[in-house]
Amino acid sequence: MNHPEQVPTLGASVAGLENSWLPFTPNRYFHEHPKLMASAQGAYYTNVQGQKLFDALSGLWCCPLGHAHAGIAAAISRQVLELDYSPAFQISNPLTLNLARRIAGLAPEGLDRVFFTNSGSEAVDTALKIAYGYQRLRGEGSRTRFIGREKGYHGVGFGGMSVGGMPANRKMFGPVMVPGVDHLPHTYNLSEMAFSKGMPKWGAHLADELERIVALHDASTIAAVIVEPIQGSVGVVVPPEGYLQRLREICTKHGILLIFDEVITGFGRMGTPFAAQFFGVTPDILCFAKGVTNGIIPMGGVIVREEIFQAFMGINAPQYAVELCHGFTYSGHPMAAAAGHAALDALEGGAIAAAAALIPVLEETIHNLRGEPGVIDIRNIGLAAAVDLEPIAGKPGARALKTFEAGIEEGVLLRFTADTIAMGPPFISTPDEIRAMGDMLRRAIRSAM
Ligand code: PLP
Repeated sequence: MNHPEQVPTLGASVAGLENSWLPFTPNRYFHEHPKLMASAQGAYYTNVQGQKLFDALSGLWCCPLGHAHAGIAAAISRQVLELDYSPAFQISNPLTLNLARRIAGLAPEGLDRVFFTNSGSEAVDTALKIAYGYQRLRGEGSRTRFIGREKGYHGVGFGGMSVGGMPANRKMFGPVMVPGVDHLPHTYNLSEMAFSKGMPKWGAHLADELERIVALHDASTIAAVIVEPIQGSVGVVVPPEGYLQRLREICTKHGILLIFDEVITGFGRMGTPFAAQFFGVTPDILCFAKGVTNGIIPMGGVIVREEIFQAFMGINAPQYAVELCHGFTYSGHPMAAAAGHAALDALEGGAIAAAAALIPVLEETIHNLRGEPGVIDIRNIGLAAAVDLEPIAGKPGARALKTFEAGIEEGVLLRFTADTIAMGPPFISTPDEIRAMGDMLRRAIRSAM
C-alpha cells in the first residue's frame, strides 16, 4: 500500500499540460489531478511521485507480457539498426511476411491471410472495407449494410464508430455515421446473470434477433455482422452460452460475413490464442491489435479466409493492378514486426499457458468481493473480470472514479468505464499478485463509499 501522507501531490502546473488534449480523458479533471507515469517494469508502473502500481489492466489490455520485456527490448533495438523502415506499398520484408505466417498459424483454421494495420480502429475499418468489397466482388453488390451490437466498441474510425454501440462515442457524430448500419441488442441483463462465473446460461436467444434484423432489411442488403466475442471496453460483457454459435449459424445461412473484433481477446487473454478457439466459433474475418506486439510498438491487423483474399485476386484487371486500394504507410512496420516476433516467442513459449493457469485464481479472487458495499455485479471470463458499482444518485461514474483514486493510494492502477471497474492482469502475474490486486480493490471500494 502507498501511504498518502508521503505521496507528493502534483499541482496543475505540470509542464506541457496547457498544450495537451488527452484522448478518452476528462481533460478538465485531469488538468486538476494529473496522473503521470515515470517507469514500468514487469507487472508494475511507478508514477512520477514514486508510487508503485500494479497494472491491473495490462496497460489498456495491451501489455500482457508485462513491461520492459527483455526479449522484445532486444528485438527492437536490433531491428532499428538493421531495417528501421521499409515501404509498406509494393515492397515488404521477410520479417513482416513471416509474422503474417506466424499469426495465421495461431489463428483458427481457415483464417490464413493477414493484412497489417497500426491499431485496432484501423483493423476494424479495414475489415469492414474488405467485407464490403468481397460482397461486391462475388456479385452481391447490394449487400451494403453492417450489423454491430449495442455496447460494442470497435474503435474510433468512422466505420468502427458506426458499428459500435456505446452511445457516448456516437452521439456527437450522428450525421456522419456510415449509412445503413443496424445493431443487435446487447446481451447484458443484471437480473438474469448477476455474479455469473464464465458464460451466463441465459441469453442465447438474443442471437435470434439477427433473424429479425435480416427479415427487416433482407439478407441481400447485409454485408457483415461485427461483434467482440467479449465486449471488453464496456466492462467485460460475457456472451451467453451458445450465443456466438447461433450468430455464426445465422450468418452462414444468409451469406453474411461474421467479423470478430479480437483486439482485446486476441493473443492469449482467454488462455487460447484467440477467443474464436475458446468459444469454438470461427469468424470469416478477425481483427487484432494490442497484444500482438505486447503494446510496445503499435500494430494491428485483419486475418481473413483464403476465399475472401482470392475474390480480390480474381478481379478482372491486369496483374499489375492494385486489387484493394487501401493500406497505411506503417502497415507491417518492421519495428512492430520485430516486437511481434518477440511477443509471439513469449506467448507460444508459455505465456498463453500461464494466462490459462491464472484464470481460476482471478475468478476466485474477484468473486470474493461479492458482498462488499455497493457491489452490484461481478463477472469474469478468461483472464478478464469486471466489478459493477452502484452509481451514486445523479452522478454516474463518480463512484468508480473515487474507487480508481483510492486504488492508486492502495497501489493498483484500475480502469473504469461508467461505474464498472475492469481488470485484465498481465499473464506474468503471480497468483499472489492477483490476490493482492483483489485485496487492494476491496479496500479501494470500501474507502470510496
Ligand atoms: N476494437 C476493440 C474491441 C477494442 O477494445 C479497441 C480498443 O480498446 C479497438 C477496437 C480500438 O483499438 P485502437 O485503440 O488501437 O484503435
